[in-house]
Amino acid sequence: MIDLTGRVALVTGASRGIGRAAAIKLAECGAKIVINYNHSAAEAEKVAEQIRSKSGQCLTVQGDVTLAADVERVFQAAQQGFGTVDVLVNNAGINRDTLILRMSEKDWDEVMNTDLRAAFLCTKAALRPMMRQRWGRVINISSLAGLLGNAGQANYSAAKAGLIGLTKAVAREMGSRGITVNALAPGFIETDMTKDLPQSLKEEALQRIVLGRPGRPEDVAGAVAFLASDEASYITGQVLAVDGGLGM
Ligand code: NAD
Repeated sequence: MIDLTGRVALVTGASRGIGRAAAIKLAECGAKIVINYNHSAAEAEKVAEQIRSKSGQCLTVQGDVTLAADVERVFQAAQQGFGTVDVLVNNAGINRDTLILRMSEKDWDEVMNTDLRAAFLCTKAALRPMMRQRWGRVINISSLAGLLGNAGQANYSAAKAGLIGLTKAVAREMGSRGITVNALAPGFIETDMTKDLPQSLKEEALQRIVLGRPGRPEDVAGAVAFLASDEASYITGQVLAVDGGLGM
């Protein structure tokens, strides 16, 4: 069992999907959790209730992580609530899928801001306490799309590839400070983000998944908990695909 007792983990966009599963898993491993959400206060509170029902400690903090002022406020709340942030999971993400010829600047900018800029802002904020304590874990939820590129996802693929570049650069900068920075590249995971994909696309993906089933948020959460732990202390700057073999 992974032991994160005494650690404080902040998960962005944690009211549902992969973020929710990561928050719950990290709490089960003993970490105190800061559940960030943007719009869904009620959903975030449900995640908090689930954690507390198993004697976990957590707090929910509203904040749009694309905005520097909100990020500042979220980290202040974490500091006030639990004294530090040891583990940051940059999970918040959106997609605005369309072919590039139809893609608006708004589609491009919104995805870049949420899937890349927000991770930059949150990482900067998290590194302050992590550098002081000479221990930290940054876990970026990238995507197989960032490794392979997906038709209809030029914005999303570019942002997720950018997140991998960010991961590697910050891993190099922080290596001597006891801070590791890694990325996960989930494949096809059943969440709100993928529920409206055309059935034909889902079936096509399913045929290529070596393990023969779509991923669950919990599949990604397990990898998050591992990277957050001392078991992963010699791993940095890596991209771990959690895709059932889809991208192999
Ligand atoms: P989801 O849509 O269920 O969850 C995304 C969460 O991010 C939501 O709770 C949303 O409210 C939050 N969010 C969005 N913008 C935000 C903002 N500005 N501030 C704060 N929170 C914000 O989707 P998911 O599948 O759980 O996605 C989680 C992450 O995993 C995303 O980064 C996504 O790109 C990535 N991912 C998902 C898949 C998949 O197949 N589902 C595959 C690869 C990567």
